Amino acid sequence: MQQISPVNRACGTCTLCCRLPDIDALDKPANEWCRNCIEGQGCRIYEQRPQLCRDFLCLWMTDEGLSPAWDPAQSHMMIYRQGPQITVLVDPDFPDMWKREPYAQQLSSWARQPGTTGQYVIVFVGDAVFKVD
Ligand code: SF4
Ligand code: SF4
Repeated sequence: MQQISPVNRACGTCTLCCRLPDIDALDKPANEWCRNCIEGQGCRIYEQRPQLCRDFLCLWMTDEGLSPAWDPAQSHMMIYRQGPQITVLVDPDFPDMWKREPYAQQLSSWARQPGTTGQYVIVFVGDAVFKVD
């Protein structure tokens, strides 16, 4: 899903959100390429892509407070908010990235500073699911 963000970041060659999430509307299981994605390039139907693809931006693209390390092309993770939940989808080809620094410390920090939102952090790695303490 190649887009330009409101904080002036660009997807570049990242195509993680066309691979990691399950997308019912596209009959796409988790961790499989969308049939419309050209790996490393982007969407072959970009001008006609579904509205849900137009609407989605990961947290890297919307929160300029995230450091450059969180660029999905570097972190091999895509993160987004769903209400109080911060969802982290880890590229199964790099399954331990979320345990490495600076990521592990940042994820713990988010999980331990729920504030008034009841925020919590869930990590998906293939079929495995973890709640960050
Ligand atoms: S995961 Fe984020 S940076 Fe990567 S293609 Fe999707 S929106 Fe762009
Ligand atoms: S339709 Fe295009 S933008 Fe949407 S998931 Fe597939 S490749 Fe990505």
